[in-house]
Amino acid sequence: MKITDLTALELGRRIRGRELSVREALEAVLKQIHENETRIHAYITLADETALFARADRIQKAIDEGSLTGPLAGVPAAVKDNICTEGMATTCGSRILSGFVPPYQATAAARLEKAGVLLLGKTNMDEFAMGSTTETSWFGPTKNPWDESRVPGGSSGGSCAAVAAGEAFFALGSDTGGSIRQPASFCGVTGIKPTYGTVSRYGLIAYGSSLDQIGPVARDTADCAAVLDVIAGYDPKDSTSVRRSDPGSFTSCAASAAGLRIGIPDDYLGKGLDPEVKDAVLAAAESLQEQGAQVRFFSLGLVRYAIPAYYVIACAEASSNLARFDGVKYGFRAERYEGLHGMYKESRSQGFGSEVKRRILLGSFVLSSGYYDAYYLKALRVKAQIRKAFDEAFRSFDLVLGPAAPAAAPRLGESLSDPLRMYLGDIYTVAANLAGLPGLCLPCGKTKEGLPIGVQLMADRFQEAKLFGAARAYEQVRGTFPMPGGKKEKEAAR
Ligand code: GLN
Repeated sequence: MKITDLTALELGRRIRGRELSVREALEAVLKQIHENETRIHAYITLADETALFARADRIQKAIDEGSLTGPLAGVPAAVKDNICTEGMATTCGSRILSGFVPPYQATAAARLEKAGVLLLGKTNMDEFAMGSTTETSWFGPTKNPWDESRVPGGSSGGSCAAVAAGEAFFALGSDTGGSIRQPASFCGVTGIKPTYGTVSRYGLIAYGSSLDQIGPVARDTADCAAVLDVIAGYDPKDSTSVRRSDPGSFTSCAASAAGLRIGIPDDYLGKGLDPEVKDAVLAAAESLQEQGAQVRFFSLGLVRYAIPAYYVIACAEASSNLARFDGVKYGFRAERYEGLHGMYKESRSQGFGSEVKRRILLGSFVLSSGYYDAYYLKALRVKAQIRKAFDEAFRSFDLVLGPAAPAAAPRLGESLSDPLRMYLGDIYTVAANLAGLPGLCLPCGKTKEGLPIGVQLMADRFQEAKLFGAARAYEQVRGTFPMPGGKKEKEAAR
């Protein structure tokens, strides 16, 4: 078995057991990056290799001395490029931030480093996390490692492709309306968007601040739990951060589906859902049922209002959050302009891509006087209703199960031609953000064409333990989900 086929926890275990050195792990993943990166393009920036090896040696020493004992010590990983890393370029996939090197570290990245994780680099993403394909990046698209003519999903497409292609043992992504769960589904990896407030947003470049949440992307559920244990926790630097009593304990969630009440919204299985995805998702539900879960269909209602409410709120917040990029404080400034206002105008016109501009326009419009009540306020009311509908559902169910996306990964270029249709593709994911709920997506099968399909589990706020328990129970029956092209090799190694 190749080193890069190991899960993060298994790699960490072997490093602690002296079966592998941190250097060997780093060499293996860098080799994989050198072999694949020109085709996949999962990264925007790669860390300097000399510095990485120096850090690997320092981590090794700390492990040998017994001062670094955590499960992820020595594990190389990647971070989405909207998470600030001190001294390493952070672009958000945008021209307007090209050349921006943050003077500080995001809390999530700092916590990883403290746990002895090696940060390999910054992964590609849709510009400012606005998109579902990673094609709106100023730095060019990422390809899906399962089929390079297809998108990896988005906006955390770089993070998910890096994990699927063995170019990182795990990665951090961010999820405002599905950006961890949908690309996880397209790339055959596991990702979780935690309850809002669980992971500090300090240093996460804001898109829709009331919806944004950082989360792990990894090979399996146990790895996601281990990463969440490290990055979760109260942070005084983020006023929306929550003091939870349970962080640091997700790894210990036992695999169990027995007695869990699982609800499947009828509304999630209707028109627009690819039959292959539907079959795979229902088969996953059946597998959980065989392990003792009670599965029932129910009507969630309001589903068709989730997309319009999400896009109104996300764009409104984005239009305000992105006002700070004006050519003065960060990154890019237009070369030619007349006067101060001319400089703002030229820098923003040239610095933002068309999808970002569309959303700034839409957001400014729904917040403008005369339209505020009709659109923004109404969207907030719908958000409250959606939250209520989920509160109601969680009185009868422990988990809500459904697809993460209506179909498997589309071909490059297919989605951007029709933005409205692309927005509709977020139908199964945005509600969790509007209601602040945790959502986990893990692979549950493949299409006839061999593309991964993901199943999504959602739980009530702060109930990640239930997600991890059920997902691990499902994984035990499903078995290890293969890596792209790596199946034969793995079977031979068994
Ligand atoms: N696809 C959604 C959007 O474009 C979700 C993005 C995200 O979660 N960052 O807004």
